[in-house]
Amino acid sequence: MSKPKDPIKEFEDKMIKEGKSLSFIKRCKRRLRDVVEVSKTMWIVRGRASLGDWYSMYIVVYDENRGKFRCSCQSLERHYSGRRRKSMCTHVGAVILYSMVSKSDSD
Ligand SMILES: [Zn+2]
Repeated sequence: MSKPKDPIKEFEDKMIKEGKSLSFIKRCKRRLRDVVEVSKTMWIVRGRASLGDWYSMYIVVYDENRGKFRCSCQSLERHYSGRRRKSMCTHVGAVILYSMVSKSDSD
């Protein structure tokens, strides 16, 4: 019997391919326990001041039409910085990690 694939390792490989830094990956891993699944396409990620969060929770939604994740921090941050964030935030990263881990659990 072959050893099951490590979802954390798979996540790291995926993020590195997308050009994410190791500190990005580290923050996503720290957020993993803060992810709460609301529905198949919605998650709540608790905010942590130690990770630079302004709010106590963030809502991540999967937009099925666009095939993309959206996070509530991306609209909130426009108040603070004039430019829009195009890149993925660590809340979305944590949700992706969460879904990879829970998928491998059910295999
Ligand atoms: Zn976010």
